Amino acid sequence: MTPSLFPEFQALLGPDRAFCDAETLAHYASDETPRSCMPEAVLFPTCQHHVVEIVRLANLHRISLTARGAGSGNVGGAMPVPGSVVVSFECMQQIVEFDVANRLMVVEPGVVTDEIDRLARTRGLMYAPDPGSGAYCRIGGNLAMNAAGPRAVKYGATRDHVLGLTAVTGDARVIHSGGRTTKYATAYDLTRLLVGSEGTLAYITQATLKLLPAPETVATLRVCYASNQSACEAVSRVMSQPVTPCALEFMDHRSLLALRDHGGEAFAAAALPPGTKAVLMVEADGNFEDVPRQIAALEKALAGPDLLEIQSGFTREAIVRLWTARRSLSHAVKRIAPLKINEDVVVPVGRLAQLVSAIEALAETHQLPIVAFGHAGNGNLHVNIMVDHGRSEEIARARTCRAALIHAVIGLGGSLSGEHGIGSEKRHFVPLEVDAPTLDLMHGLKRLFDPQGVLNPGKKLPD
Ligand SMILES: Cc1cc2nc3c(=O)[nH]c(=O)nc-3n(C[C@H](O)[C@H](O)[C@H](O)COP(=O)(O)OP(=O)(O)OC[C@H]3O[C@@H](n4cnc5c(N)ncnc54)[C@H](O)[C@@H]3O)c2cc1C
Repeated sequence: MTPSLFPEFQALLGPDRAFCDAETLAHYASDETPRSCMPEAVLFPTCQHHVVEIVRLANLHRISLTARGAGSGNVGGAMPVPGSVVVSFECMQQIVEFDVANRLMVVEPGVVTDEIDRLARTRGLMYAPDPGSGAYCRIGGNLAMNAAGPRAVKYGATRDHVLGLTAVTGDARVIHSGGRTTKYATAYDLTRLLVGSEGTLAYITQATLKLLPAPETVATLRVCYASNQSACEAVSRVMSQPVTPCALEFMDHRSLLALRDHGGEAFAAAALPPGTKAVLMVEADGNFEDVPRQIAALEKALAGPDLLEIQSGFTREAIVRLWTARRSLSHAVKRIAPLKINEDVVVPVGRLAQLVSAIEALAETHQLPIVAFGHAGNGNLHVNIMVDHGRSEEIARARTCRAALIHAVIGLGGSLSGEHGIGSEKRHFVPLEVDAPTLDLMHGLKRLFDPQGVLNPGKKLPD
């Protein structure tokens, strides 16, 4: 960065919104990915005008920008590249409008995701996407990654809950996509293009989110099986009958061991029956009259070979404990080995059992612990290959294992990422899944939105 540029940023944002001290730079050097890269400066715009001017200056001085929400992403999306300046959206956290009659909320990108749902529920509505990091991640990061959570099996991912966006392109144009209506057939659907584009096409400055009526009640089942395969077959049975659960989560045997050893009280209180090798957590939501009917249909589908126990009738506190145990898995897993290679693969749900078999075979072949859990109802598993980073031979084996996993997933008609995105960490795998003409078109779109390539270089697309 030229010496004159930082004072320009300070003049634009004010001295308390532009930093280049070592402590701030270090704090913003990484996201949840176990790698880091020091930025040249960290900027905190508070309005769209600031974002436009930052992008204009970046073009003028030919510097790269890296957008950031809460930095909870785990593919290096918010990790700076050498010489880049971080644009943190944390200070753009206004809820601009809550329109109950039209079931929508207009928000700035720095609003914390759970805040949106909390406010919606005060008026009998809900914001459906529920990433596990919802207590701290920001809606701008969710939009950029097309984040999702357990409820996606019934309600879909972030992309399915956006009516319109305002964004700043790489050449500092302000663009508007979609609108405030639940039907829209006018323009090209830039909303669906920008959601999941990982900040490579435009920086989102405002989003109009779709809200749904909140269900009156939720009922939870915890279902224990004697093998991973029998749990996956139960997932298939559930998804081939008409009642869609609002969560269908899978924990494999190694996940249960990780929770037992590192999951604390939440897991101890769960008291699984002896011989449990896999657990499904299943939820149904709706009105008070209908949920018992849904639960009966789900219990029927869940029953089958190797079923050990179906537990229902949990108290609210017990349900919170169960979900706390499930959500603590990401952190519990980290304690098995110093490094986890974390894949977020997705296959058509009917092929989940094949995916889990392939994972078991890879663990055996490569002699590595692999922990798999996640959103089974969408065929989306978090596959964690556990490695000791002090042992280079083990790292090499883990890399081979990861490549084999990705080939297996693509062979099953699946995809590299269900919800975490591509970031800097997975982009070299993209050509395995996306063919050359399609990638060409995507590079063309990037040039159209961001001619000088200032927005999030080194992310999403392979070089
Ligand atoms: C414990 C844990 C649990 C998680 N559980 C889930 C889960 O259940 N589901 C899920 O989907 N993910 C999950 N994640 C991953 C992560 O929380 C999500 O990817 C989330 O969407 C990132 O939001 P963020 O605000 O932290 O964004 P960041 O990590 O800061 O950024 C993510 C991407 O968004 C871009 N970006 C940020 N703001 C903007 C903007 N205004 N305009 C354009 N681009 C922008 C960044 O450049 C980056 O590419 C989890 C992570 C952790 C650590």
